[in-house]
Amino acid sequence: MDTQKLNGQENLNNIFLSPHFDDICFSLGALAYSQQQGHLVNVFTVSNYVTEHFHQNTNAYSVQDVTKIRSEEDAQFSKMCGLVGHNLAMKESPVLGIHPFDLTNLDSHILAIESELISYVLKLQNHNQNNLLYCPMGIGGHRDHQVILGAVIKNIDDLIKKMSILFYFDLPYSSNVQALEDGLANFQKLVKKHIFSTYAKELDEKERALKLKMIGFYQSQIFNPINPSHFTVGHQSEGAKMCEMLVKIMPK
Ligand SMILES: [Zn+2]
Repeated sequence: MDTQKLNGQENLNNIFLSPHFDDICFSLGALAYSQQQGHLVNVFTVSNYVTEHFHQNTNAYSVQDVTKIRSEEDAQFSKMCGLVGHNLAMKESPVLGIHPFDLTNLDSHILAIESELISYVLKLQNHNQNNLLYCPMGIGGHRDHQVILGAVIKNIDDLIKKMSILFYFDLPYSSNVQALEDGLANFQKLVKKHIFSTYAKELDEKERALKLKMIGFYQSQIFNPINPSHFTVGHQSEGAKMCEMLVKIMPK
């Protein structure tokens, strides 16, 4: 998945939208590393979630503590991938008292964040470069992922005139066959005005080792040992190749 080939373009300005601190690493880490260029926009960075195991070992209780820990984990990834990090400091759903997989009243949530998010993206454009926006497909049904997807889709007619738009398969959610099917069905409903083509990249040994190392930065979010089959699309069987996938959207 070489995005230079993908677009037939060079001189890229990558703008990666990451709902939470770990989503770009988990979903597109190998791609981001290979590019060594662009902006990482972390949106819902005010967080209160760490794994139970991590919590027991660190007593990371407060939103402030968790946010700081997660920000530091992500800074290691940004540095390794040559990305400029941006944290929008919006509250993730559980901090707002909403269950992360509750998808009710999504429209009002989208409305609440849309203008800040889209204007931030537009400010990161570089008019001397080919701008690429990477947006989550919302596979897995996490509310925060769906809110970003919804905001981008709402503004797609304007955005698509200014930049290429690529939607990525959210990992690890997309390794679950049912989540993948449901997520793709939802996505296809939202993009029916557009045609799209899919790009997939199976990671070779070197990329696999590198990605596992980068996933390992997020100790507050992962279970050790890391299960590589959670970073595949659609097949959780042991020994499945790690991969990353994208869909490119074009007007009909
Ligand atoms: Zn996420």
